[in-house]
Amino acid sequence: MEYRHSAQQIKKKILAKLEHNFGVGLENATNDQLYKSVALLAREMMEQGRSEFMAEAEKKQAKQVYYLCMEFLLGRSLKNTLFNLGIEEAFREALQQMDVKLETLYDCEPDAGLGNGGLGRLAACFMDALATGQYPSTGYSLCYEYGIFRQKLVDGWQTELPDFWLPGGRIWLHEIPEKAVEVHFRGHVEEHWDSSYHETIHKDYTTILAIPCDLFIAGMGGKGISRLRLWKSKGQAFDMGLFNSGNYMRAMEENAMAETITKVLYPDDNHSEGKSLRLTQQYFLVSASIQDIIRTHLFQYSTLDNLPEKVAIHMNDTHPVLAIPELMRIMLDECGYDWDRAWDLTTRTLAYTNHTVMKEALECWDQDLFRMQLPRIYQIVEEINRRFCQQMHDLGVDGYKVGRMAPLNDGYVKMANLAVVGSHCVNGVSTLHSEILKETVFHDFYTEMPDKFTNVTNGIAHRRWLNQSNPELAALLTEKIGKEYIYDASQLKKLEAYKEDKTVLQELAKIKRRNKERLAAYIARENHLTLDPNSIFDVQVKRMHEYKRQHLNALNILATYLWLKSHPNADFTPHTYIFGAKAAPGYYFAKQMIRFIYELGEVINHDPAVSSRMKVVYVEDYRVTLAELMIPAADISEQISLAGTEASGTSNMKFMINGAVTLGTLDGANVEIHDSVGDDNMLLFGMTTPEVEALRAAGYHPDQIYYNNPAVHGAIDFLRGGINGVDFSDIANSLTGNDPYMVLADFESYQRAQAKAMQLYANPETWQRMCLCNIANAGRFAADRAIREYAERIWHCAPLTEKTEN
Ligand SMILES: *Cc1c(COP(=O)(O)O)cnc(C)c1O
Repeated sequence: MEYRHSAQQIKKKILAKLEHNFGVGLENATNDQLYKSVALLAREMMEQGRSEFMAEAEKKQAKQVYYLCMEFLLGRSLKNTLFNLGIEEAFREALQQMDVKLETLYDCEPDAGLGNGGLGRLAACFMDALATGQYPSTGYSLCYEYGIFRQKLVDGWQTELPDFWLPGGRIWLHEIPEKAVEVHFRGHVEEHWDSSYHETIHKDYTTILAIPCDLFIAGMGGKGISRLRLWKSKGQAFDMGLFNSGNYMRAMEENAMAETITKVLYPDDNHSEGKSLRLTQQYFLVSASIQDIIRTHLFQYSTLDNLPEKVAIHMNDTHPVLAIPELMRIMLDECGYDWDRAWDLTTRTLAYTNHTVMKEALECWDQDLFRMQLPRIYQIVEEINRRFCQQMHDLGVDGYKVGRMAPLNDGYVKMANLAVVGSHCVNGVSTLHSEILKETVFHDFYTEMPDKFTNVTNGIAHRRWLNQSNPELAALLTEKIGKEYIYDASQLKKLEAYKEDKTVLQELAKIKRRNKERLAAYIARENHLTLDPNSIFDVQVKRMHEYKRQHLNALNILATYLWLKSHPNADFTPHTYIFGAKAAPGYYFAKQMIRFIYELGEVINHDPAVSSRMKVVYVEDYRVTLAELMIPAADISEQISLAGTEASGTSNMKFMINGAVTLGTLDGANVEIHDSVGDDNMLLFGMTTPEVEALRAAGYHPDQIYYNNPAVHGAIDFLRGGINGVDFSDIANSLTGNDPYMVLADFESYQRAQAKAMQLYANPETWQRMCLCNIANAGRFAADRAIREYAERIWHCAPLTEKTEN
């Protein structure tokens, strides 16, 4: 597929789109119409490229990868598409000839915020890597009408506004009503025995239609194109059965119910609510996707006997784990397989990634709710459970242990247990996290089936997070080490040859400076705050969570402020503390943490005694597009979760590749960042995971720290007194009470790391050398590498063609 056209040709195509879709000429076109015309052109190119790519895949009977995930945090598509297809400059020129700036059109696009945070962004980065690696692949998710809420702070308190993204976002979607599938809920199951023949019939169910809305993601070079199939729920046109039986109102109600399924994304990150609508969403995604996969497979091969050889289905977290009983249902009820054969094919096709070890995130469904919503699926889960327990008993496994591993236990459907039982492979997302899985949540399983467990450390789409969001740094890299790193991020290592090159180090400093100015301009507009680009930009952006410990950062800022007040002539490198994070709407404490940071900013930014040396900024509505602006401007990357709680983290990788120094604990992928850059290029602090466990076992007494550490004492007392009349005694009480995230235990160590950062930053050459080493060693955190590992070790599939580019 040839995507390249002259600026002249592109101009003609844009004008044709304007005329055809909006009936306007250039002189009357709005920016929004221009954006949509360009987007439509880009989308059509991808559709063409995808069909050529898949025609080749079909001819070669290549194995397909299907990635199931409740969230895809895509952000914007236009720049990514033009960049990856290698046509950004041609478009820029064509638009320039029309007196339009490409960047203006980029800014017309809303973020597709169909996810909460790291999990959803990982899925989006993986679609990019799957495409670039030329793996024939489809992601499946829901077409939420409302994505993650828009955040507004009102006097520091988070309020949520609906994110109706479709007016600007649907231009990327191709709706295909002809490919709709039916999903069945509720009703009851009847069993029929006829001498030797046993039949199960699901009756009186409610039918919901799933309409596919396809969105494409171009890989670098444009040879591979991924497809994201998003399902939209719709009532059956008219349920004539209900109308004819005189049940007019029930027919209407069911229609309204149907449309609510994909209305809104659940805004919880690392937390499971157990709500019936959420279970409905999960089964809706799974059933529509599995039916679609089976239909496609049968169309090509006319049998499911070879399913595991030709199809890999991946369950990203436990949210899509009903794929296991759904695939069984289709094989048993619709294809006539017996249980053993169906189970063998199912388990060899499915694999599962775990994303958290935190109890509140482990999904458990009330058995009665589950049985009521999904009677046939429940029956299959019961049989999976019965056979699994039997098999374990036969192997002589202790009864308590079998109970702990069982998919059904204590009146709940335990989704993580079902996931492990029904998958051929289970992975964690960083070396540390995968080890913790084997030692804790899945320890029982690990002792019985150790070969099932593996690790694939997360990765990021480095073309988006480096080339597109930091074009000046990318240009410098290309100048120094060539452009191979764009396809092969391990080539970034070549930059290390320049770590004593003063001009390169100065060049890095200048680029960082301009990125800081770019962010400062945004903050001046949005927050009406003037930042000093010479100050250290110390950035913590991620979801707001106690385990991520933004309050550790805030407490240090408060203590530092109080110290500066009492030592006005102290040596202090000016510091700008920047935060961005959404809290789950029902998570009171996280919202209170936001207010704490906000009020701290109000005090510090308006105190003339310190405001030239300290600033605290809370950037509202953190999202992918803001991350792309903020991360390249960071000097320090705050990755300060309690060791053992953050499964991997991916923003740590985005910061690293943009030349920020990680100030962090030995948690998640920080451990591997540390392995890559060494002590000299990272600011480590805090307890290790075993130290956390030991302290917990010995008894954690934060009150003693409060009494013994004057900085802690002063800051907590200040907090307890309220800030600007807002009471924060709940945060103070948590910190000095039984804080499960042990903020105070790591406080002193955190302060030492902060002091060291300041000292290092004061020597620009030393600092820039650290930044360079981080960039040079970030290659292993590319999503391309992660996808290669999934393909080789879990999916057992190969790229379509060996690359010829470059
Ligand atoms: C990368 C990313 C995240 C994940 O951040 P972590 O620090 O790894 O939790 C969350 N939100 C957005 C918008 C991101 O781009």
